[in-house]
Amino acid sequence: MHLIVAEKNISARRIAQILSEGKKVAESKDAGVSTYSFGDTTTVGLRGHVVEVDFVPGYENWRSETYTPRSLIDAKTVKVPTEKRIVALLQKLSRHADRVTIATDFDTEGELIGKEAYELVRAVNKNVKIDRARFSAITPQEIKTAFANTTDLDFALASAGEARQAIDLMWGASLTRFISLAARRGGNNILSVGRVQSPTLSMIVDREKEIEKFVPEKYWQLGLVTEKAGEQIEARHTNGRFKDQKAAELARDRTKEPLVVTEIKEGTKQDRSPSPFDTTTYIVAAARLGFSAANAMRLAEELYMNGYISYPRTDNTVYPASLDLNGVLATIKNSPFKKDVEWTIAHRRAEPTRGKKSSTDHPPIHPTRAGTREVLGDDAFRIYELVLRRFLATLAPDALWKTLKVNFEAGGEPYTVTGGQLLEPGWHAVYPFSEAKETILPGFVVGEKLPIRKVSLDEKETMPPARYTQSKLIQRMEELGLGTKSTRHEVIARLVSRKYVEGNPLRPTLVGRVVTEALEHNADTITKPDMTQTIESHMQQIKESKRTRDDVIGESRGLLHKAFDQLEANEQVIGDDIRNRTAEELNLGTCPVCGTGTLAIKHMRGSTQFIGCSHYPECTFNIGLPVTMWGWAVRTDDICDKHHLHFVRLVRKGARPWDIGCPLCHHITSNVESLTELASMNEALLEKARSKHIYTVADIAKSEPEKLTQQLGLAPAAAQKLRTEAVAMLETLRKRSECRKFMRNHLIPRKGRSSAKIMAALKEAGVTDLAGLSKASPSTLQKAGIGEKEAADILYEARITYNGQLLKETGIPAVSLKKYLAAGISGPEEFCTTAPERLAGMAGMSAATVNRHIALVCEYLHRPVPGGSAAKPEKKAASPKTATPKTKKVLKELLTLKGMTPKVARAFADAGIIRAGDLIAADPAKVAERTGIDRALVADLQKQLKKRQEIIQI
Ligand SMILES: [Zn+2]
Ligand SMILES: [Zn+2]
Repeated sequence: MHLIVAEKNISARRIAQILSEGKKVAESKDAGVSTYSFGDTTTVGLRGHVVEVDFVPGYENWRSETYTPRSLIDAKTVKVPTEKRIVALLQKLSRHADRVTIATDFDTEGELIGKEAYELVRAVNKNVKIDRARFSAITPQEIKTAFANTTDLDFALASAGEARQAIDLMWGASLTRFISLAARRGGNNILSVGRVQSPTLSMIVDREKEIEKFVPEKYWQLGLVTEKAGEQIEARHTNGRFKDQKAAELARDRTKEPLVVTEIKEGTKQDRSPSPFDTTTYIVAAARLGFSAANAMRLAEELYMNGYISYPRTDNTVYPASLDLNGVLATIKNSPFKKDVEWTIAHRRAEPTRGKKSSTDHPPIHPTRAGTREVLGDDAFRIYELVLRRFLATLAPDALWKTLKVNFEAGGEPYTVTGGQLLEPGWHAVYPFSEAKETILPGFVVGEKLPIRKVSLDEKETMPPARYTQSKLIQRMEELGLGTKSTRHEVIARLVSRKYVEGNPLRPTLVGRVVTEALEHNADTITKPDMTQTIESHMQQIKESKRTRDDVIGESRGLLHKAFDQLEANEQVIGDDIRNRTAEELNLGTCPVCGTGTLAIKHMRGSTQFIGCSHYPECTFNIGLPVTMWGWAVRTDDICDKHHLHFVRLVRKGARPWDIGCPLCHHITSNVESLTELASMNEALLEKARSKHIYTVADIAKSEPEKLTQQLGLAPAAAQKLRTEAVAMLETLRKRSECRKFMRNHLIPRKGRSSAKIMAALKEAGVTDLAGLSKASPSTLQKAGIGEKEAADILYEARITYNGQLLKETGIPAVSLKKYLAAGISGPEEFCTTAPERLAGMAGMSAATVNRHIALVCEYLHRPVPGGSAAKPEKKAASPKTATPKTKKVLKELLTLKGMTPKVARAFADAGIIRAGDLIAADPAKVAERTGIDRALVADLQKQLKKRQEIIQI
C-alpha cells in the first residue's frame, strides 16, 4: 500500500482526488480521522504538528526548589503526541505500507511536520521506503509533477525548524516562569515572555512612549481660491508650513489681486505596475480591505488547501521561470473575472513585474484555479479576487499620468497648484484596490491674470507618529528580521490574547507596558530585536548545513543564562515593580461606602477573591466573588453609569468569560431576594437601606441596633426585630448553602443534569436545607430527578451528616461523638430511644457518661430526661465542661465553627458574645482580653465567619 501523508485533512482529500484521476475515491473514518483511498493508495491528513515538544517530567511544579525557572534552560525535552488519534492511525496504516510519501507543506515548518511523521512511521516500520513530495500549489499539474519526482526529506531544513522550536520553548518557558513568579502571578494570570513576542511588544510600547512624549507644534498654512472658466481652483503658498505666525500673516496680507500665472510645467509620469505578492505585501493589501492579519492568513490557507491559490507563506516576489503564466491565465479565464483576464492578455506587458526578493522555495502568491463567490463564500472570494487581480496587475502595462504644475504670484507671494490626469490606465484597469486619483486642471497661459476669491490662513498642529496597525507592524517586523512569514501574524494575535495590546491600531495595555519596561531595565537582550535576528541567521546556517542544530541551541542557552544572571540579581526589584504598577488594573473606582477609599479586586492565596476597600479596616465594605475555579476576576473598560465602578469579568482558559457587570449592581441584585424574605422588609425600607449602603442580610445582622435605628429611621424595637430576623435569615442562608454544597458533593455527575436544577426541584418540594433533606422521603428525591439507588444513598449520607451536626450542638464532646457515630448511632432520636446500657455497650463508654449525654440530648430536644440519677439536669448544669443551656441556644450559629469548644463558647457567652454578628465586628485583641481566649483563635473564628458570609453572599 502507498500511504500519502498530507499536512491537513482538506489537502489529503484534494491530493487523493487529483491523483485518482477520475477513479472513485473511498472515504473512511477511523476514530473520527478520515482517510481517502483509491486503488492501492491511501491519503491521510495530519493537523499540522501532531506531536509537541515538552520538558521531561519533574518540571511541572512552578515553585519547585530544584527545578527553578533557570533550570528549564538546560532541561531535557521529549516529543509527546498531541493528536493521539491521528498518531495512532498513522502508525496503524504505516505497518502495512510499502511506500510512504510525505506531502506536507513545503517550508521549514512543513519539513519539520514531515520529519515528525517520518519518525512516527519509522518507529513502527523500520524498512518502508519514505519519500517526500514538494509542491507550491495543490493543482493537478503541480501535484502530479511532485509525485512523479519525489525526493528525500530535507533533514537540514527540518533541523532548523527543530532548533527554532527548542529555542522558543526554552526562552518562553523559563522567562515566563521567572517573570510570573517574581510578580507573584499564577494560573490564568501569568505574564508570558517570548523570544519574538517580547521585542515585538517592545516596539509597540516604544511607539506609545513616542506618542506620549510628543509635543505638538503649531504651524500655519496659507492658501487661496481662484477661478477659471467657472471652476474653483485651490492653490497653496509655496512656503508650505509657516512656523512663524507673524510671517504667515504678513504673507497673507500681501496676497493681493491680480493672481498672475508665472510658469507652467507639463510632463508625464510612469506609474509602475505593482510587484507580485509575498506574504507581507499580501497581508498589507488585505488589511486595506479590512482583514486582520490572522484572518487574512487563515483565508489564504483555506484557499490554498482547496487549490484556488498557491502557497501563501512565501518571501518571493519574483515569478520563477518554471511558472506557466499562460497556463494560469487560461485557468482563471473560467472565473467571474473573464473580461479582466482577456483585457490583460490583450494588453500584456513584455515581462511580468518583479520585486526585490527572489527565493527558490515558493513562487509569489498567485491564483491556481477558477473560483466563484457561490463556492467560496463572501470573505474567501474577496481574498481570492484580491490575489487574482494582483496577478493580473503584475502582467498589465504601467499606467501613464500627465502631470501639470502651475506657479502663480500675487503681491509678490508665490503660489502653486498641481494636477494629474491618467493618460493610460494600465494596471489600474484590473486592480481597483489602489487609488488612482485624478486632478484635472483647466488650461493656463503664462502672464494670464486671475481673480482671487478667497485667501485662507489655517492654524494647524504637527501630529504624533501613528500607532502601528497590524499590517504596518508585520512590515516592520520583517524589516527587523523578527519572526518569520509564517509566525508574525500569530505573534501579534498572541499579544492580543495575552492582553498585552489592544485595539487596531495597536496600543499597549498597562500590563504590556509594565512587563516590557521591567525587562528593558533589567535584561534588555530579551526586548531587543538583535538577539532574535542572530537566531534567524543561525537558522539559515542550519538549513545550509553549515552549523548543527545542537550547536545553535547551545549558543542560545549561553545567551539565556547571561540574561538570567541579570534577572536573578534583580528579581526582587522586577517583581515589586510589576506588582506595584499593575495594581492599578485591579482598581474599580471610589468606594461607595466611605467615599474616599478605592475599591479593588483582591486575589488571596488559594482560590479566594473578593472586592475590598483600600481603607480597610476603617472601611469594611466588601463584595464577595466566586472562587477562582469559576474564573479569575479582572476589570473591563465598561463603567457603571450609576455607581461609577469598572465592570468585573471572570475569565477562565477555554471557557466563555462570565460577566459579573458592575460589582455593586451585581451585589445588590444577588442579595435582594434574601433581604425581601425578611418579615419586616418592604420596598421603602429596602430603598432606605440601600441609600445607607446596607445591601445584604449580613450587613443588617452585624449592625448595632442603635445604628440601624438611626440609619433606617426605625423605632428601636422595630430595628431590633429586623436585626433578629436578619440573624435568623443568615443561619437559614448558611443552611441552604450547606445543603447546596452537600448535593454538589454527593450527586454523581451526569450529563444533562446539574445540582442546581435538582436543588430547584427540591425547593419546590419544600426541601432547602440538610434538616429537610434528612427527613425527606425517597420519592421526593426521585421526583426531583435522582435515581432510586442514588436517592437512598443520598438520604443515608444526609441523615448521618445532619444528625452528627445536631449531636454536636447538644454539647457532647467531639471525642465521644466520634465513638457514637462509629457505633452506628446517627441521630438524637436514636439517642433518646435506645436504652442507656445498650448505648454504653455499643460506644464503649461508662454508663455515667452516657447518661450525662442522654440528658444533654433530651434537654436539647425539650424532652423529659429518662430515669437514672446520673442524668439530672442540675448535675449537668454544674459540669464545668459544657455550656449552660441558656448560652447553648444562642450560640448555635457559633458552635459549628472549628475550634469552638464548649469552654470557649462559655467564655464568649460570659463576655456577651452570643451571635455571629457580635463576634464578626469585634476587635480580636479586645475579645481576647475580655474572654481570656487566645487572640489567634479569636481571629481564626472571625475568619471562618467572614468566609461563611462570603459564601452566602455569592
Ligand atoms: Zn470604603
Ligand atoms: Zn452599578
